[in-house]
Amino acid sequence: MTFKDLALEAPILKALEKQGYTQPTPIQEQAIPILLKGHDLLGVAQTGTGKTAAFGIPILNHLCRDNNVGKGQRKIKALVVTPTRELAIQIAENLTAYSQFTQLRNTVIFGGVKQAQQVKSLRSGVDILVTTPGRLLDLMSQGYITFRDLKYVVLDEADQMLDMGFIHDVKKIIAKLPPKRQSLFFSATMPKTIVELSQKMLGEFQRVTIKPEQATAEKVEQGVYFVSKNNKPKLLVHLLEQRSSDSVLVFSRTKHGANKIVKKLDQAGIRSAAIHGNKSQNMRQKALGDFKEGKLKVLIATDIAARGIDVDELSLVINYDLPNVSETYVHRIGRTGRANASGIAFSFCMAEERPYLKDIEKLIKQQLPRLGEHPFMEEGDSIETMTTNPPKKARPKNRNFSRANRSKKRR
Ligand code: AMP
Repeated sequence: MTFKDLALEAPILKALEKQGYTQPTPIQEQAIPILLKGHDLLGVAQTGTGKTAAFGIPILNHLCRDNNVGKGQRKIKALVVTPTRELAIQIAENLTAYSQFTQLRNTVIFGGVKQAQQVKSLRSGVDILVTTPGRLLDLMSQGYITFRDLKYVVLDEADQMLDMGFIHDVKKIIAKLPPKRQSLFFSATMPKTIVELSQKMLGEFQRVTIKPEQATAEKVEQGVYFVSKNNKPKLLVHLLEQRSSDSVLVFSRTKHGANKIVKKLDQAGIRSAAIHGNKSQNMRQKALGDFKEGKLKVLIATDIAARGIDVDELSLVINYDLPNVSETYVHRIGRTGRANASGIAFSFCMAEERPYLKDIEKLIKQQLPRLGEHPFMEEGDSIETMTTNPPKKARPKNRNFSRANRSKKRR
């Protein structure tokens, strides 16, 4: 299938061509026809799958066809709510690219900065608003935003909204939406609270599921190094020195940890920057901007700050710490190998992280390749002692034992 087969408006096709998109990604192939028909949609998918275009293209296409753009004051007709400022900015950038040959205008608003500029932009009229939940409610309560003309609503990364404590804000927003609308709900995972939230927002809907392993594991070359906590910085320096021309995103579980990594790299003469919640918005944007432009080769990020970071040339992701939630691993490695590209993801695993590795391998249904010896191996780092599965020889005995037990129970 090509985008031409989707019968999109000419200016949108032209923009996609300019972006270099030829084939829709799986989520686009499935979601765009459903959305063009006007149905509500539940999308179980993560960023990195082409999700933004999957919802952005049909909405822009509807707005283009509605043909009332540019007449009188622009009114907000489409709303995208997303958890982080970085994601909001990225979505708005994508929508701007896809709508560059139309009259449609979007703006992005988020907290942590003064509101004056955002209010000015809203006052001048926009067709599409991309926002984080808190600032949206804030500006609504001040009377700068109404949903009177709203027809299309996207709730993006719903599970992340929950993790970040936005669920009440999101419920308040849903309660204020006009009843006649097309609703789109995206989440990478579907815990019970998120299922309930989707039921509140969606009418009769169609579901599209893009499995994480489909999205990432196939395309990203992965591997794990067993390394002690003390040797992690040395191994990181070693790997970065080997790949000094690559753009590398390093994940740290904590903000404090991210700062420490920057210091260690600095001592080794490697320039890097950290992005996390304690950094000011300006600092985060500057670091991300430098990274995207290739001026900064190494970016250290926590999961929340990095979710959805979209860098075209990101060749390597390093999990300095393994995440304790397995889905997070999939989100992380999804930063590389975007859309149709391939990428590499290395993980560091110290003894205490073995259970996390086991959970991850269960989720992605594959064993991460063990990357063998490295210069900082210590006793206990050896591959044999660190394997997550029992040695093969021990298995048949256990299996027979459990089988015998099971059949006893049945009887
Ligand atoms: P997203 O999941 O929306 O963050 O998109 C991930 C990346 O894939 C972004 O860099 C998009 O520009 C890119 N992308 C989205 N759709 C396509 C496509 N059909 N062909 C090539 N790249 C795409």
